[in-house]
Amino acid sequence: MKPDVVVVGSYVQDLTWDCAAFPQPGETVIGTFRTGPGGKGSNQAVAAGRAGARTLFIGAVGRDAFAGEAKRFYSENGIAARWIEKRDRATGNAAILVSASGQNQIIVALGANAALARADLDRKAIAGAKLLVVQLESNLATTAAALCLAKEAGVTTLLNPAPMRRDFDVRMLRHVDILVPNETEFVALVNRLKIDGRTDFSETELTARTPAEVHRLCRGLGVATVIVTLGKRGCLISQPSGVATVPAHHVVAVDTTGAGDAFVGGFAAGWVRSGGDVVAGATYGNAVAALSVTKPGTAPSMPWARDVAAFLAQAASPARRRSSSNDKTKRIPKSVTRRDARKSGRARS
Ligand code: ADP
Repeated sequence: MKPDVVVVGSYVQDLTWDCAAFPQPGETVIGTFRTGPGGKGSNQAVAAGRAGARTLFIGAVGRDAFAGEAKRFYSENGIAARWIEKRDRATGNAAILVSASGQNQIIVALGANAALARADLDRKAIAGAKLLVVQLESNLATTAAALCLAKEAGVTTLLNPAPMRRDFDVRMLRHVDILVPNETEFVALVNRLKIDGRTDFSETELTARTPAEVHRLCRGLGVATVIVTLGKRGCLISQPSGVATVPAHHVVAVDTTGAGDAFVGGFAAGWVRSGGDVVAGATYGNAVAALSVTKPGTAPSMPWARDVAAFLAQAASPARRRSSSNDKTKRIPKSVTRRDARKSGRARS
């Protein structure tokens, strides 16, 4: 199989404890436990693969039971993966505490992910892909090398700058065609690059800005296409040709963990299906992410292509449009309409 989407990134086994309230230092509380496949890179690959894109995941694991779980999950889902085994490292894992009020506290041990090396990359697969997707949860030098390999081969590159790390070298952005930060990551990038001379830009300020103002900040990042995900408000697309917003779907969210990963994977699938249309990709990404937040977990909550198709068909039905036109949560900011979004987003990245 020649993959259209190659994801180079992290696999992390999510170990989740649900508790009434977080333990204080020195305190023990009784909770319940669940575990499942996670990691930003892997979640994005699963989202893209389930949403219908021919996808290859490249990541490192240890020689332990978690690696076995990772491999089993991929083969059960029919998604291709190149697992690099690092004998002296543990598979990446995350201790996630979730309180009854829905807050979380997380510690991630990158383990084998930090040892992913340039030599581990499948150059042929990357050079033959339509889109390379990377994040910042794996080895950063190898992530940069993957971006360079893709650019040399004329492959479009997407960076999801998550988690934002102090050791992230912003020069990596030179090799990025599509940048997909969430609000926290976008604010961190504005401050790191001192856009408009700012070092104290905040999420509160971002929320108060108009799309045109956010677009101006996006242009300072030096990346052709910037898509800022805005949680239940959808996303903003900034391209040299202009700015557009695509609203999120109104759903009952039960677990928003991994929403950003669902969006990125869904975007990749939609972008490939549409022949490189950024707005089509974002529209598909919004639908994949909306469906994922209606279920608990990260990778297991990613929807299949048939579910996304049914969801989009229902969202587009006249009855649904009539009812949602009264729904204030779906309103697009006044300055930008969906038609404007389609128009300005036609440019291919
Ligand atoms: P992250 O998980 O990285 O913080 P966001 O919170 O911005 O990312 O969410 C990513 C995408 O997921 C959004 O652009 C939107 O499409 C979708 N999304 C997130 N939360 C909701 C929600 N409550 N309802 C519907 N869609 C959501």
